[in-house]
Amino acid sequence: METTERKASNFIEEFVEEDLASGRFDHVRTRFPPEPNGYLHIGHVKALCIDFGIARKYGGQCNLRFDDTNPAKEDTVFVEGIQRDIEWLGFKWAELHFASDFFPRLYEIARDLIRKGLAYVDDQSPEEMRINRGTLTKPGVNSPWRDRSVEENLDLFERMKNGEFPDGSRVLRARIDMASPNVLMRDPTIYRIKRCHHHRTGDDWCIYPMYDFQHPIQDAIEGITHSLCSLEYEIHRPLYDWMVNNAGFEQPPRQIEFARLNITRTMLSKRFLRHMVENHLVAGWDDPRMPTLVGMRRRGYPVEAIHDFLARVGVAKADSVVDGALLEACVRDALGDTAPRGMAVLKPIPVTFTNWEEGKVDELEMENHPDHPEMGSRTLHFTKRAFIDADDFMLDPPKKFFRLAPGREVRLKGAYIIKCEDVKLDENGNVAELICSVDLDSRSGSAGADRKVKGTLHWLSDMDAVKAEARLYEPLVMDEEAAQETEAEDAEDIDDTAPKGFNVKMNPDSLVTLTGCLVEPAIAGCAAGDRFQFLRTGYFCKDPDSTPEMPVFNRIVPLKDSWAKANK
Ligand code: ATP
Ligand code: MG
Repeated sequence: METTERKASNFIEEFVEEDLASGRFDHVRTRFPPEPNGYLHIGHVKALCIDFGIARKYGGQCNLRFDDTNPAKEDTVFVEGIQRDIEWLGFKWAELHFASDFFPRLYEIARDLIRKGLAYVDDQSPEEMRINRGTLTKPGVNSPWRDRSVEENLDLFERMKNGEFPDGSRVLRARIDMASPNVLMRDPTIYRIKRCHHHRTGDDWCIYPMYDFQHPIQDAIEGITHSLCSLEYEIHRPLYDWMVNNAGFEQPPRQIEFARLNITRTMLSKRFLRHMVENHLVAGWDDPRMPTLVGMRRRGYPVEAIHDFLARVGVAKADSVVDGALLEACVRDALGDTAPRGMAVLKPIPVTFTNWEEGKVDELEMENHPDHPEMGSRTLHFTKRAFIDADDFMLDPPKKFFRLAPGREVRLKGAYIIKCEDVKLDENGNVAELICSVDLDSRSGSAGADRKVKGTLHWLSDMDAVKAEARLYEPLVMDEEAAQETEAEDAEDIDDTAPKGFNVKMNPDSLVTLTGCLVEPAIAGCAAGDRFQFLRTGYFCKDPDSTPEMPVFNRIVPLKDSWAKANK
């Protein structure tokens, strides 16, 4: 019996294999084509994994190309930032291209279309063009300028380029079919007049090509075989094919679409993220709440977690929304094994030990990782005064609260069992200080250490406590539907980088800053970017905002808090 071995693990690979088998292509070449008008977000990582993954799997190459045809919003800082992000992810592009380097070639190809009678200069106003374009149910109306002679069109197009006409007064349109059921095929604009300084070509050009012309042609020029993009481009595919076929390329690339990555309560569209930055709804592109790679890196997400997440999401043809909890789980998985443990008390309440002599110090060896002795240990000190977390104490607790309360006992991690003997309240009735006794025979590691109590708390002595700030993050947006709807809008107008409506309700609690935190000296003195598990609290990463006087820590993800979950 003959067996055929199928290697393809998703629908894109099936298409690619079909093309290799039929001889349409004998090699594979893909590209990642960001517009440099913002930083990359985690949605782009899906596209990157697909573009680079397909090239690698079939022994081909993947290019990086900046689709820099909208000068108003583009900038060199984004060009550089995007390259850094791709390098961080570990992808290596074969060729680096800028669409703007091809402006002269694109201009010549547009002239060829004019010569073939497939493009014309239209003098209608934008408003007239919009009306005459028709609707989904009504065919469009031909422009009165549609039948200009080739000579006149060539002359007008050249004069557009030479700056003889004001912005927006004329456009070059492809001459396709004003009655096409696909509105995009109704003589789409392929060049517009726009006087705008370009970050690479300066003021050389006052006409710029539109996406639907530039993108397919650029793919064809680079010899791309498979042009992989997200689903909003599906309706553009007939136009894509029209362009590459009519521009006379012998091996037209094949466009294949896949579903965008959507994550619950997460905005994954550059133009909306940009809106948040420009309107100061966030501190910047690298705000640790942002789903950008610069934001996630600053927050402390390990790159392995991002790859793991994308691998688990997979490549789907249909749109879906992935639960943000999956990303957090991947981050916990990646950090669990590697992040050293440490003590941090985010909301300290002071504890004084009645039966511990003033000035007596006990040195305690603390392991840096329970499963990795090779990660070593450090010394903490037990003294007459310590701090525990306010969340670990209740004046009048329910039965299942296995933490500290009047008359109850807990173990301080790696140290002693203590018992709460008394509570001092301030004038507002808040807990000001706990008075505890120490079971001197219960020292961890000693013979008496096996006495069991229900709870173990993290803590810090007054000798080891260093002041710090902690920043706790929650999703940026409140409203699930709004987050996904804005992405739908992205699909409507790929050349327009301004969001039309921003109806998103921002989460007022997406950032909680705790200023009175205490951390142990090893944590306080670490380098920006270093990551720890703060015992029983979460994973934290030192932020570059830190100063020697005030180290700042970003919460990367909380640990799963079983008690808080059960008691919501
Ligand atoms: P804009 O809002 O400016 O259009 P964008 O977020 O759509 O930004 P682009 O620069 O247009 O980003 O996209 C670059 C590439 O990344 C495209 O090929 C696009 O298909 C892909 N891409 C963008 N967002 C996602 C996403 N959420 N999931 C998967 N791929 C995406
Ligand atoms: Mg887009």
